Amino acid sequence: MEPEKIEELDVLMIFKKFGAVITDGHFQYTSGKHGTAYVNKDAIYPHTREVSFLCRMLAEKFAGLDINVMVGPEKSGIILSQWIAHHLTEILGREVLSVYAEKKGNGFAIMRGYDKIVAGRNVLIAEDVLNTYGTVGRVVEAVRSSHGYVLGIGALCDRSNPEARVYIPSLPRIVALMAISLMALSKEECLRAGPCSKGIPINTDLGKGKELLVEKVRA
Ligand SMILES: [Zn+2]
Repeated sequence: MEPEKIEELDVLMIFKKFGAVITDGHFQYTSGKHGTAYVNKDAIYPHTREVSFLCRMLAEKFAGLDINVMVGPEKSGIILSQWIAHHLTEILGREVLSVYAEKKGNGFAIMRGYDKIVAGRNVLIAEDVLNTYGTVGRVVEAVRSSHGYVLGIGALCDRSNPEARVYIPSLPRIVALMAISLMALSKEECLRAGPCSKGIPINTDLGKGKELLVEKVRA
């Protein structure tokens, strides 16, 4: 097997160990559609050894670029940003800094004087799960308006649909350690050929199943 594939399996195993990825369940998504996979990234963060391990993998993938500063969107991007900067510092033998971008209006901004750290420097953006690239796109804008140079985006997981991705201009490198396809079925399709057809109940602890439960109780 290709080394990249082995790596991706390692990442999937870590996510599965903590229930951060479920691939054989039955979920209702925000869209109302049904599917078998669910990503609960929050389940990873309490486990610092594994978070460090995953961030080491990302740091190694970007070690060839001349990164000076990591930037993560609040909240989860902050944790990853710190760990990746820590590992890049070790690998490169020079200090790689880590700051974060905060929500401001509809976008993100680099505040607290961190904009001065970003200005004129090479930046790598960290994110946990890429959905539409909407969040990272707004962080790219924030870094650029603070006069930083974005060289790439490093993510744990890409679950985006290629056709629904936001286009981010002039971005040299995007790396996600793992790709998860969240195939979404309409309720009718699920009844015909998905887990609904097998009578498997919808998971009411994760996804939008809980709201479904509330609907049922009300009905
Ligand atoms: Zn279903």
